[in-house]
Amino acid sequence: MLCTDCQSGYHAPYDRFERLAANPEVPSYLMRCKQCGALWNESSGAPELLTRTHARWLYPGVRI
Ligand SMILES: [Zn+2]
Repeated sequence: MLCTDCQSGYHAPYDRFERLAANPEVPSYLMRCKQCGALWNESSGAPELLTRTHARWLYPGVRI
């Protein structure tokens, strides 16, 4: 269940996110909302909501 902030997208307050992993070659960052646990992929394009499976595929070895 997404919190009300995540339901409307990836936006401020950004301090609700913690960075779990990074892929410097893309670059992209795996961010997790501290309020609801939603996983977001932050990169040069539009931020994308990720499933755990997708996040593990993009960031091998990440603990989620
Ligand atoms: Zn959230």
